[in-house]
Amino acid sequence: MSDSTIPFDNSYARLSDRFYVRQNPAQVPEPALVKVNHSLATELGIDPSWLESADGLGMLSGNQVPEGAEPLAQVYAGHQFGGYSPQLGDGRAILLGEVVDASGTRRDIQLKGSGRTAFSRGGDGKAALGPVLREYLLSEAMHALGVPTTRALAAVTTGETVLRQDGPLTGGIFTRVAASHIRVGTFQYFYAQQEIDAVRELADYSLSRHFPETSDDLEPYLSLFKRVLRSQAELIAQWMSLGFIHGVMNTDNTAISGETIDYGPCAFMDEFHPQCVFSSIDSGGRYAWGNQPNIGLWNLSRFAETLVPLIDRDQERAIEKVESALAEFPEYFAEQYTARFRAKFALPSDADDALIKSALGLLANQQVDFTLFFRRLTQVAAGAEVEPLAGLFSDQVQFVRWFDRWKETFDVSQLDSMRAANPVLIARNHRVEEAIQAGYRGDFAPFERLHRALQNPFSDQQEFADLEQPPSPEEKVRETFC
Ligand code: AMP
Ligand code: MG
Ligand code: MG
Repeated sequence: MSDSTIPFDNSYARLSDRFYVRQNPAQVPEPALVKVNHSLATELGIDPSWLESADGLGMLSGNQVPEGAEPLAQVYAGHQFGGYSPQLGDGRAILLGEVVDASGTRRDIQLKGSGRTAFSRGGDGKAALGPVLREYLLSEAMHALGVPTTRALAAVTTGETVLRQDGPLTGGIFTRVAASHIRVGTFQYFYAQQEIDAVRELADYSLSRHFPETSDDLEPYLSLFKRVLRSQAELIAQWMSLGFIHGVMNTDNTAISGETIDYGPCAFMDEFHPQCVFSSIDSGGRYAWGNQPNIGLWNLSRFAETLVPLIDRDQERAIEKVESALAEFPEYFAEQYTARFRAKFALPSDADDALIKSALGLLANQQVDFTLFFRRLTQVAAGAEVEPLAGLFSDQVQFVRWFDRWKETFDVSQLDSMRAANPVLIARNHRVEEAIQAGYRGDFAPFERLHRALQNPFSDQQEFADLEQPPSPEEKVRETFC
C-alpha cells in the first residue's frame, strides 16, 4: 500500500472532543473517478497519480481511510434564513484530516456526500452527482477569478443512486479543500449553550490557524473579530463585482477563513438586477445580490455576540468594542465595493460614483447582461467600436447619455485594472446545468470543456466564445437548488 502518500497533520482532531464526532465514511459499491485536480494536489504535496490509483480512488470514495487520516464530523449550529438551528454539523461531510500546503498554509481535506454522521438528522448523508459537478465548476471558477474560496480536489461517482425530489439520481462524492471549515455557526453552537471555555478554545485555535500574526495582540479576540469582519467585507464586495449571488448566506455558511463556502444554490447573474435571486428556497429574496452586504453585517453581528464574553471582562465595555468594530463595516465595505467597480469602469480613483450607480440602474431597467456589458465596455475602452456595446441596450437615448459621460471620465491608463476586473467568462448557469445534465447521462465532455474554459476567465479564448453568450430564453435557468 502506498497509503502514506498524504502527509496528514490533524490539528482539529487534537482539539477537545466536544468539537466533533469521529466517523468513518460509508462504503460505496462501485466508485469511479470523474476528475482529479492535479495542480491542487501538487500544491498540497499529494501525488496526483496516486489520487488516480486504486488506493487514491479508495480514499476519494470513502472506501479506504488512508494512513494518517482521522475522519470526523464537525459540529456547528447556525442561523438559516434568520432562524436559529441549535445543531447542524456535518450531516453529509467528513473531515479526513489536514495537510500543510507548499506555501505553509494548513488545509482541510473533506469528503462531501460520504454517508451519514451523528449530525445527519433526517438526511441520507449522500450527494447526487449534479451538486458535486456544480461545486467543482463553481469553486474552481471562483478560484480562477481570484476570489477566496474552498477548492475542488476531486469528484467521483459511487455506483449508488440517491433519492431526491425528482427521483433517483447518480450518487457522487466531492472532495473539498478549505483553509478550514470553521464557521460563524461553530462559535454559535457553543455560545448558545454558554460553553464559553469552548468558545475560547475555538477562538484561540482560529487565531493560531488563520491569524498567527496576532499572537502578540493585547486584545486577540477583538482582533479576530475585526479580521473576520474585514475579510467578509472584501469577499462580499468581490462577489458583487462579479455578479455572484451566494444564495445561502446562513451563518453556518460563513467561514472564519474568509473563503467562499457552500456552493449550493449560488449563481452568477446573466442580466443584472440588484434583487436577483436564484435559490429555490429563497422566496423572500433575503440573499439577493444587493442584500449581501447587509446580510454579511447581520452574520457578523451573530459572530460578535459569541465573542463578547471573551473580549472584555466588563461586558458592557466588550459590547461597546464590538459595536464600534461593526460600525466600521458599512464604510469598509463601501470602500472595497467602490474600488472594484471603479476598476470595472476604468474610472479614476476620485471619480464620482454617480456614474457607477446610473450604469447599474440602466442595466437593471433594460435587462442587460452584466458580464457581457463589462466585457464590451472594456473592449470599447481599448479602442473597439461602440456598436456591440450599444446593441445591449434597448433604449439608445438613455445609453448614449450615460456613455458620453463615461467617455469623458474614464481613464485609459486604468485599462489593465479594467481588464483584470472584468472577466470574459463566468460559470453561466445554463452552461453549468448543461454540464450536469450530460454528466448524469455519463458524458463528462461538457463538464471538462466548461472547466477548462473557466480556468482562464480573463483571456480571450476563441474556442470558447460560445460560452461567453448569455442564455437564450429557452436555455435560461431561473432556479438553483441546494
Ligand atoms: P447546507 O444547506 O449545505 O448548508 O446544509 C445545511 C445542513 O444540512 C448541514 O448541516 C448539512 O450537513 C445538512 N445536510 C444537507 N444535506 C444533507 C443530506 N443529504 N444528508 C444529511 N445532512 C444533510
Ligand atoms: Mg452548509
Ligand atoms: Mg450546501
